[in-house]
Amino acid sequence: MILPKSNRLTPVQLAEVTGIVGEFGCTIQPIIGALRTIYAIVGDERDDLMINRLEGLDYVERIDRIQSPFKLMDKRSDLASHRIRLGGVTLGEELFVIAGPCTIDPKNPNYFYESAAAVKEAGAQMIRGGVWKPRTNPYTFQGDTRSMDILLEGSRRTGLPVDTEVMEEAHISVALEAGVTCLQVGARNALNYSLLRAIGRAVAGRETAVLLKRSIHMGPVNEFISAAEYIAAFGNPNILLCPRGTAPGLDGYRNHPDESITPLLKEKTWAPVVVDPSHSVGKAAYVPASALAAVAYGADGLCLEAHVSPSHGIGDDPKQALTPESLAETIRQARALWRLRRGVKAG
Ligand code: PEP
Ligand code: MN
Repeated sequence: MILPKSNRLTPVQLAEVTGIVGEFGCTIQPIIGALRTIYAIVGDERDDLMINRLEGLDYVERIDRIQSPFKLMDKRSDLASHRIRLGGVTLGEELFVIAGPCTIDPKNPNYFYESAAAVKEAGAQMIRGGVWKPRTNPYTFQGDTRSMDILLEGSRRTGLPVDTEVMEEAHISVALEAGVTCLQVGARNALNYSLLRAIGRAVAGRETAVLLKRSIHMGPVNEFISAAEYIAAFGNPNILLCPRGTAPGLDGYRNHPDESITPLLKEKTWAPVVVDPSHSVGKAAYVPASALAAVAYGADGLCLEAHVSPSHGIGDDPKQALTPESLAETIRQARALWRLRRGVKAG
C-alpha cells in the first residue's frame, strides 16, 4: 500500500509507480477515500527491491506492508481511517438503521410507499426493499424488475436513500443507473466471487455502498472479511458487513443468530458491522431482542425488515416484518442502548 505525501498522486506520479510495480509483476489500484487516495499494490508485494524503489520517491510518505489475506479490509490498513457516510450519517458516529419490506409487491405499490413513510417516521436513515429475490423455493415469487420504479418512488417520496439486493451481474447496472445507494449481496451469494468482483468493478469510483451479508453456512470470520476484500480491491471501500444468522437454525429460530460475531469482526477489520436480526431469528416477535443484542455486541447499524401491514406483505414479510410501532420502539431502544454503550466505553 502506497501512501503519498499529498492527498493523491498526480497522473505523472501514478504512471511512475505503476511502471515500477509493473517491473515486479504487480499493478496499482487506487482506493479513493473521502479525504485522501491511497494506492494498493496488487500482486506479490514482498520484493524488497520494489519497496526500496518506491520508498525512494520523494512524493511517497511510506509503504505499508500488511501480511493479511485481506490487506485492505484489515484493521491495520490505512483504510481504517475511512468513514462511510450514508443517509446523512457517518457510520460509527450514530446508530445507522436500514429498514423496509423484504419484498416489494409490484401489484400493490402503496404498501411499499406507506412502509417507506413509516420507516422514515420511525427514524431509519435508509429504506430497504427487495426488487429481485433469492427464494429457496423456485415456485415462489422471484421479484420483478418493475419494482425498481416503486423503490425509487419510495425513495423520492421520503428523501431517503435505498438498499436493494442484486443477485446477478445484469442487476448491477440496472440498480446503479436507477440511483440505488446501497447494493446488497445476499447470504446465498456471499461467496459468489464472480458477482463480488463484478460489483467491485461496477462501484469503483462511485459513492455507492455495498451491504455484504455473511454466508448462510457459518462462514468463518476470515472468509467473511475476505469476501469484502474482493469488492474493496477494485477501489471502493464503502462496505458494510452484515451478519444475518447462519444455518442450521437454532431450534425455533430461522437461523442461528450470529450477532455475537460482531466483536470478532471488529478486532480484525475497520469495516462497519450492520446486523440483520430479521433473517437471523425469522420471526417478528424475536427481532427486537436480537436487534438489541446486536447493539450490545457493538454493531454500528441494523438492517430490519418492516412493513406497514406485515400480513399483507410477500416474501418474508408476513413472518418477520416489524410493524411500524414495533420498528419505532426497537429503533428507540436500540439508539438508547447504543448511546449507553458509547458512554460506557468513553468512561
Ligand atoms: C433479504 O434481505 O431479504 C434476504 C433475502 O436476505 P438474506 O440474503 O440474508 O437471506
Ligand atoms: Mn427477506
